Amino acid sequence: MTATIVDGKTVAAELREELAAQVTAMTSDGIAAPSLSVVLCGDDPASAIYVRNKGRAAERAGVRFTLHRPPAESTTDELAALVRSIDADESVDGILVQLPLPAQIDEDTVMACISPEKDADGFHPYNFGRLAEGHPAVVAPGTPLGCMELLRRSGVTVRGSRAVVVGRSAIVGRPLALMLVNADATVTICHSRTRDLASVCKEADILVAAIGRPRMIDASYVKPGAFVIDVGTTPQDGVVVGDVDRESVEPVAGWLTPVPGGVGPMTIAMLLRNTLALARARRALVQV
Ligand code: NDP
Repeated sequence: MTATIVDGKTVAAELREELAAQVTAMTSDGIAAPSLSVVLCGDDPASAIYVRNKGRAAERAGVRFTLHRPPAESTTDELAALVRSIDADESVDGILVQLPLPAQIDEDTVMACISPEKDADGFHPYNFGRLAEGHPAVVAPGTPLGCMELLRRSGVTVRGSRAVVVGRSAIVGRPLALMLVNADATVTICHSRTRDLASVCKEADILVAAIGRPRMIDASYVKPGAFVIDVGTTPQDGVVVGDVDRESVEPVAGWLTPVPGGVGPMTIAMLLRNTLALARARRALVQV
């Protein structure tokens, strides 16, 4: 068996086109286009690239995009005041504070200034709570949403399947495990204290690696025919490396999302989907 390589780039491009068409339909009904405000504080070069890519994707989809660049030496109070003022702006549908923030800033204080109705990243505890309670999420974190979309568009049956998620962070592992449970999978969450990780993983029909340990997941972790989702991205010698050892896993798995070109491109598309969902909810086009 050789795994089908899941082309996240193509799926993400299709999704962005679908979203652009939905934005066009919205505006041709005389309704204001969704708007996304991004706060980028600090000099992290990777963050600057992510934000630039988000801005481009937003503009191409017809989403109004505003970038705020407070000085890197801003205090927590100053940044919190800025985010509160964006949150209070009626013309803004979605807000995203690019992480990480400079060391002197208390991240929780700043993030708490985004209301759940404008939470473009889907990180707000209210939205996380909705997901945990099993409600259909208006917004949810983009990376796990992207993983679910790749499963859906690959035609895989999630209901009744055995899923193992390695990684329990609040932005990837935990919300993805909840999404899989909500989609009727039987889910195990693993982490750095899990005993005999390989044998737990080997039971999975759907195996997710969201660890940040380059090439850790080799064929000995993979059930033949499994759908393997590689979320990991670690820069190494000028390239980005995933958590899955592709060479070893490809002959065993049924599907494999590659790094790069798998989950990564989906994250921005899902940010745009979240922004559109927030805009619809705020214009009472759908119920929150
Ligand atoms: P975190 O560092 O927050 O979490 C990593 C998780 O992996 C933790 O739960 C940790 O366990 C677990 N872990 C670490 N080492 C091991 C091990 N040896 N065995 C089993 N579990 C282990 O990372 P994130 O969730 O933020 O990100 C995970 C990866 O995904 C990173 O490579 C990141 O760059 C990438 N990523 C990619 C995105 C994309 O768009 N493609 C978006 C977001 C992240 P414990 O809790 O016990 O410490």
